[in-house]
Amino acid sequence: MKLPVYMDNHATTRMDPRVFEAMKPYFMEVFGNAASRNHSFGWEAEEAVEKSRRQIADLIGATAKEIVFTSGATESNNLALKGVAEAYGERGNHIIIQVTEHKAVLDTCRRLEREGIRVTYLPVKPDGLIDLDQLRDAITDQTILISIMYANNEIGVVQPMKEIGQIAKEKGVLFHSDAVQAVGKIPVDVAEDGIDLLSLTGHKLYGPKGVGALYVRRRHPRVQLTAQMDGGGHERGMRSGTLNVPGIVGLGAACEIAKAEMPEESKHMSFLRDKLKNKLTAELDEVFINGSMERRLPHNLNVSFAYVEGESLLMGINDVAVSSGSACTSATLEPSYVLKALGAGDDLAHSSIRFGIGRFNTEEEVDYVGNRVIDVVKKLRELSPLYEMAKEGAAH
Ligand SMILES: *Cc1c(COP(=O)(O)O)cnc(C)c1O
Repeated sequence: MKLPVYMDNHATTRMDPRVFEAMKPYFMEVFGNAASRNHSFGWEAEEAVEKSRRQIADLIGATAKEIVFTSGATESNNLALKGVAEAYGERGNHIIIQVTEHKAVLDTCRRLEREGIRVTYLPVKPDGLIDLDQLRDAITDQTILISIMYANNEIGVVQPMKEIGQIAKEKGVLFHSDAVQAVGKIPVDVAEDGIDLLSLTGHKLYGPKGVGALYVRRRHPRVQLTAQMDGGGHERGMRSGTLNVPGIVGLGAACEIAKAEMPEESKHMSFLRDKLKNKLTAELDEVFINGSMERRLPHNLNVSFAYVEGESLLMGINDVAVSSGSACTSATLEPSYVLKALGAGDDLAHSSIRFGIGRFNTEEEVDYVGNRVIDVVKKLRELSPLYEMAKEGAAH
């Protein structure tokens, strides 16, 4: 086993060697501009781009024409929210999202608010899921868009997409989903889920960084989108800019592999995840799982170790790459807004660790990580007067 162990696969994933192989020719030999219509260099690049479009569409139940290439999910989310707000401005000025969205959605909505859009931030229940009645009640005749992420990047909780899609359809409101963490990991189908716009990115599914896509529904309804980038009118006018052909080839290859291997891989991921969870809960007390275990990505585990600072734990396990539930801003350590939205106090939010298991993790690594965490948590608790007091209190 090689150290350090990488177990932070919600932040990014290592590229699959098969993806890298597929990309290689497009850096040097096949270097054409996919928009060059006059010669074979352009045609070859365009052919590769169209193949990728089909591979992506196949993974999410879309058609190739509905895929718009972007620089990643941050851009896809920006384009979906701002593009819809602008295109449907005559129809209404209200958007509904939830409090545990990724910053790329939250901060985009903050900007839209400054521009006169009204945004409703739905709360989540202690299990991390939204309340469908609250969603229904939030919709007004001014609502143009609901944007709810498919699966959360911290706690892995999977929202009831089909039900949300049905509500959106009933009310004639568009439905966008930031599906970055779900695509390639669990079955995602824009038709079955009633999704009109969907964001995805290469580097969260063993593809390259800096390339992503936005699915834009073309029928029932045909979604209108105002471009946010002005230029040559690429991507059917929705996103100008010369296409990143090697990146796009990599994204397509990553999607094809994910589709073929998902049934096996997701079983293996949940086996490893459950093994880690069972080990931690068997050997440590005062361990709390954050978010629903039933509706969850197979490779995610988010755990709070009471009486232990997540940051101290991270330092103690410095040969293991995981994330803590605290976000380092310049001077202060802010507890995760996602965990706080579930109702966790600052203490438990600060003592949380996110494990993101991935395709390249072995069972040996999972055992190693489990043992390291248990060891360091026990040591840190030995030094904690609060833990001592709690134990003594329980004994009397
Ligand atoms: C990583 C991530 C993003 C941002 O994607 P980039 O391609 O890095 O811009 C957006 N949403 C979620 C849920 C993510 O996990």
